[in-house]
Amino acid sequence: MKKIVIAGGGISGLAARYFLSKAHPGAEIVLYEKGSRLGGCIESVDAPYFFERGPRTFKASRCPELLDLIKELGLEGELLPSTKEAGKRYLWKDQKLQKVGALLLPAWKSLLGEWCRPPFAGDETIGAFARRRFGDYVAETFFDPITLGVFAGDSEQLSVEACFPELKAMERTHGSITRALLKREKKKKPQGLFTLQGGIETLIDRLVEKGRGPIHLNHLLEGFEGDHTILALPAEGAKRFFEGDFEALRFFEGVGSVNLVVVNVVFSKKVFPKEGFGYLVPTKEKEKILGVVFDSSIFPAQNRGEESRFTVMLREGGEIEALEALQTHLGVSALPSSVHVKEYKGAVPQYGVGHLERVKAFEAHLAKYYPQVDCIGNYLRGPSVNACVAQGARLRIKKTQ
Ligand SMILES: Cc1cc2nc3c(=O)[nH]c(=O)nc-3n(C[C@H](O)[C@H](O)[C@H](O)COP(=O)(O)OP(=O)(O)OC[C@H]3O[C@@H](n4cnc5c(N)ncnc54)[C@H](O)[C@@H]3O)c2cc1C
Repeated sequence: MKKIVIAGGGISGLAARYFLSKAHPGAEIVLYEKGSRLGGCIESVDAPYFFERGPRTFKASRCPELLDLIKELGLEGELLPSTKEAGKRYLWKDQKLQKVGALLLPAWKSLLGEWCRPPFAGDETIGAFARRRFGDYVAETFFDPITLGVFAGDSEQLSVEACFPELKAMERTHGSITRALLKREKKKKPQGLFTLQGGIETLIDRLVEKGRGPIHLNHLLEGFEGDHTILALPAEGAKRFFEGDFEALRFFEGVGSVNLVVVNVVFSKKVFPKEGFGYLVPTKEKEKILGVVFDSSIFPAQNRGEESRFTVMLREGGEIEALEALQTHLGVSALPSSVHVKEYKGAVPQYGVGHLERVKAFEAHLAKYYPQVDCIGNYLRGPSVNACVAQGARLRIKKTQ
């Protein structure tokens, strides 16, 4: 192995650079980033108030590779757990803010009845899965907003196997989700949410420092280079490398994406009495926003003083829609001290039914026709930062190349 070229300076590319630096000590490694900064979706700002523009929370029990990397990079001391209050989650339903726990009560019959419902082996939409197992109420009240919260996506379009593989696995192994949850071994897994005290961009900075080889900003890579190329790009960026290859192009065209608008709003004082993670808005409510995160309540250690920090997520719109929602839903009518709007174009991948089968076929196609290329990124097997890190950690390049 002589030269490894990485395209993309987000978490996928930088994690790949770090792991490959360790796995291939003799190789020359070069990373190209088309923009003027590293981090991609990850961006932490700390003046005048602290905010994450992109990812902000990680569930400890679902992030083994990310936690290992954080420890390996010596950032363990930066780990910041969420408050106990962050366990409280709300939904904006029937024109009021309601606790998720209270909304479960009317569902108890369908939760119990789920034991008797026969399993189905194939892939299906999240909505179809939820209705089949639990009925309409649970599908609309819980599965629809969770899909909006994680994928900004439509539960009637997205694949349950690709978006929530653990649910299908529970159905396969136990014949029922509720039975699987009750039988779950109480393994000692880390609990709660976490972030990094100085912001998630700290991870980016440390990866830059600990990985090897030059990084070139403002450099758009347009073709395969070196002895091995790693494309650590969103689907739209990776697709450009496969011009004329209809099988590969068909795969990329099958992975949809949606825009996300992130509005960070700060009020200099406490403006809302409730604590919690935030709330989501089911589609049936026909509101303009997807949900709101109560940042200052989840990680108060990142507050500068008494401020209230919120992040409003929308598919389209901006400041006006965000402030309107805070006023209508939370009764917050004070003037904000700061508002920042960031639009992520096509940033959230949408996995349709059959996505995982298509990924397998695409990976087999790559292995056969492009043995000198690896594709990693959030459009393959999960959009989380942990999934991006895990792919980088698994990269192994054949030494014979
Ligand atoms: C608003 C938001 C909130 C999120 N919240 C969470 C969360 O709380 N928890 C969680 O786990 N995940 C979250 N995610 C998902 C997660 O942040 C992303 O999936 C992940 O950061 C994607 O990283 P990436 O490196 O694959 O892609 P990106 O971050 O998109 O980076 C790709 C990079 O490649 C560059 N590039 C593109 N084309 C080329 C080219 N040809 N040559 C060179 N460079 C190129 C781009 O400029 C970019 O910098 C969130 C995402 C968003 C948008």
